[in-house]
Amino acid sequence: MPTTVIVGAGGVGNVVAQKCAQDAETFGEIWLISRTKEKCDAIAADIKEATGVEIKTAAIDADNVAETAAFLKEVKPEILLNIALPYQDLTLMEACLEAGVHYLDTANYEPPEDPHFEYKWQWEYQDRFKDAGLTAILGSGFDPGVTNVFCAYALKHWFSEIKTVDIIDANAGDHGLPFATNFNPEINIREITANGRYWEKGEWKEIPALSVSEDFEFPDPDVGTKRIYLLYHEELESLAKNLPGLERIRFWMTFSEKYITHLRVLENVGMTSIEPVNFDGQEIIPLQFLKKVLPDPASLGPLTKGKTCIGCLIQGKLKESGELATKFIYNVCDHQACYQEVKSQAISYTAGVPAMIGARQLMSGAWLRPGVWNVEQLDPDPFMDDLNAWGLPWHVLEVDRSLLL
Ligand code: NDP
Repeated sequence: MPTTVIVGAGGVGNVVAQKCAQDAETFGEIWLISRTKEKCDAIAADIKEATGVEIKTAAIDADNVAETAAFLKEVKPEILLNIALPYQDLTLMEACLEAGVHYLDTANYEPPEDPHFEYKWQWEYQDRFKDAGLTAILGSGFDPGVTNVFCAYALKHWFSEIKTVDIIDANAGDHGLPFATNFNPEINIREITANGRYWEKGEWKEIPALSVSEDFEFPDPDVGTKRIYLLYHEELESLAKNLPGLERIRFWMTFSEKYITHLRVLENVGMTSIEPVNFDGQEIIPLQFLKKVLPDPASLGPLTKGKTCIGCLIQGKLKESGELATKFIYNVCDHQACYQEVKSQAISYTAGVPAMIGARQLMSGAWLRPGVWNVEQLDPDPFMDDLNAWGLPWHVLEVDRSLLL
């Protein structure tokens, strides 16, 4: 029987553990390990109730390579799914190399002291994974993840060349709270308050944070027309490198007026800073303190109503006619339906299900390829089939022009 280790018991870790348990035949003995064992135990109890599957739990400090590698050598898993934080990517990759375990994550490495994420640190592991005969799959969430696979699928089946990609991420859900982030607040706020960046004609172009926006009409009437903001997002880096002939790639996300106003105030008063300050003799980092007082994203599940819609608007040259065409390939996910299934809102669901699906490709051998890979470098077809089978069905809309300026 195979063994699977999932690291991280937050909102996304819960979904990954639930979905792996739904497919116990593939994942065999499942371990959920994290810093706080009580959180793992609570998820394990929910899973037992929902699926009858018993998963095992343990406490681990994923920043500690020796401790994690010793644990992996003891339980001997085929794969480790890193659903902790981006800060743990390198230590967990090291532990996997030491213990001979395949690796998968959903977010690229970011040094804790510098709000700056880049693939270079993880790409440097290419030869070490290859030489060890191990596969590392990077960014198998929704964005990055499904959005990259959508591009790979479009290139394989529709277009001889992709000209432009606009990744568009809408959360039209409402949790009724004045301000909360949908996933880890520290990671989320670091991402949104950074300058926007997009890639055009071989160059990165930078814009001030949240300074470019427009209205976009989403295909689902429950999402409707929403204001989308241009941001930098990590999949732009690998897609700009891996899509031949690409002329431009951008990433857009919806935010409500209320969200933007709260964020601006928090930023203006210094609460989003990661510079330590001395408070009553104790050093604290304002953003980490803010995280403590904001709602736990995992608690938003029962409150959130509405839908998400995430997709790629892709323009390219059609394989058969050579003519330019634009297609929007997307998924719509309902917050309440996710909560009914796995006790989590759609943001964690859309990130967690693709991690399980990526791991399924590794377990089946379809994505077994020694080295370090972004998901667009692997065969999109079995992953796309699994999206339909495991809760994230996708749709395609033909559009007669690019919907964006
Ligand atoms: P949470 O903060 O809710 O959960 C993170 C978990 O990791 C917590 O259980 C935490 O433990 C654990 N953890 C943190 N540090 C360590 C450590 N040193 N050792 C062991 N465990 C540790 O985050 P989310 O669930 O919201 O996000 C998880 C990951 O998913 C993040 O990397 C995020 O960037 C990524 N993500 C990816 C998306 C995508 O589409 N690609 C979308 C959304 C998220 P504790 O409970 O003790 O704090």
